Amino acid sequence: MDGIGMSRRRFIELGRDTAAVTLATAAVPGAALAQTGGRPVARGRPMPDDVSLPSTPPRSKRSDSVGYAIVGLGDYALNQMMPRFSQSPRSHIAALVSGNPDKLRRVGDAYGVPADARYSYEQFDRIAADRRIDAVYIVLPSGLHADYAVRAFTAGKHVLCEKPMALTSADCKRMIAAGRRANRRLMIAYRVHFEPHNIEAMALMQRRAIGKIRFVRTEQLSRTDPSSRPVENWRIDPSLAGGGPLEDYGIYGLQAALYLTGEMPESITATTFQPANDPRFAQVFASVASQLTFPSGAIAQLMTSYDSSGSNIAHVRGDTGALIMDAATGYQGHKMRLEGRERRDLSLGDPTVQFARQLDNFSDAIRDGVAIRTPGEMGLRDVRLMEAIYAAAETGRAIRLTPDGRIPR
Ligand code: NDP
Repeated sequence: MDGIGMSRRRFIELGRDTAAVTLATAAVPGAALAQTGGRPVARGRPMPDDVSLPSTPPRSKRSDSVGYAIVGLGDYALNQMMPRFSQSPRSHIAALVSGNPDKLRRVGDAYGVPADARYSYEQFDRIAADRRIDAVYIVLPSGLHADYAVRAFTAGKHVLCEKPMALTSADCKRMIAAGRRANRRLMIAYRVHFEPHNIEAMALMQRRAIGKIRFVRTEQLSRTDPSSRPVENWRIDPSLAGGGPLEDYGIYGLQAALYLTGEMPESITATTFQPANDPRFAQVFASVASQLTFPSGAIAQLMTSYDSSGSNIAHVRGDTGALIMDAATGYQGHKMRLEGRERRDLSLGDPTVQFARQLDNFSDAIRDGVAIRTPGEMGLRDVRLMEAIYAAAETGRAIRLTPDGRIPR
């Protein structure tokens, strides 16, 4: 079955970036937004099973270190990002925001966050008066990013926001506008732009190490536990996850196609798949496949799924060689091979530096005004392209794009 129940005209309106309605609200049958007055709400979740907290609180940092409030103490925050603050000399955890009081206490004690710097979601806006907090790091389910970013800007804080930036381009624009109004910085946490293999891959493609790029193929595939239900897994709840795998995982393949070719697509075709009688995919897509054509003639095929054995690859084929990245965009375990004129396996050091280097970039941007490598405009660009992918799948036709990724009116 292709597509999710919504009128074709409505979908194109969304793709055209004109509607403030989320994809989830309009596109997905049974989207449970009515109960929340149209937008999802933040609520605490249990502590993940496999968390290891520091046995002693991290030592204090240099005087110009940027204080971050971590919003949402889930798997990625607790297991990946929070432990990496100790590797970023100019970044420290100053406050926590969570809906689970027990987690606030245990995590706060472990990281040495004072009791009066631990906030619930209801207390969030009080961070405005907390001078220990310079920036807010939003690690909430994706459908909550926009509201918390706008509230953080309103509180006068800088915002580091997880990917995807938001579920609609309208929300992305709302975030960018709020940041400008507050005169505060906004970064999207695309850690891959700080990962050594991906940085070298971009440089190799720029210097035409495989000649002119002809094809890119990416796969970001995983399998959602068959017993999962939206009530306990936000990744299959459209109000928090949009269409599903594309926003969550496929976004890495989309990003790779853009930073490896160095181009924006001029047209997109796509197919979505939503099986009947599978409760996991009652409200989100199981799989999304799209094809992007670039002005140079390069063609990218992007596959993403929540219903497949796992894969995380980016293959680029040029007219004189190929670049094979497998795994391409994970936390660690990257492998990269160049074939053609230069033929070698490339081992470029520890991929896990990506987490701290991302923090370094944002803290330097806040303190010294340096350029942000992955700004809000990049997040908006990607959300627009995902809207175009859904519009192409819905209409069954190629969607032609303006040079900045919009669907022409
Ligand atoms: P989790 O489900 O593990 O954690 C999300 C946390 O958000 C919860 O623990 C909870 O924290 C809080 N939360 C608030 N409201 C809700 C709600 N209604 N439903 C569920 N949780 C809620 O998710 P992840 O940590 O995996 O993902 C969080 C964000 O990070 C997403 O935007 C995701 O896309 C991004 N991410 C980025 C990665 C990357 O590599 N850059 C990798 C993985 C995720 P509490 O209990 O403290 O309130």
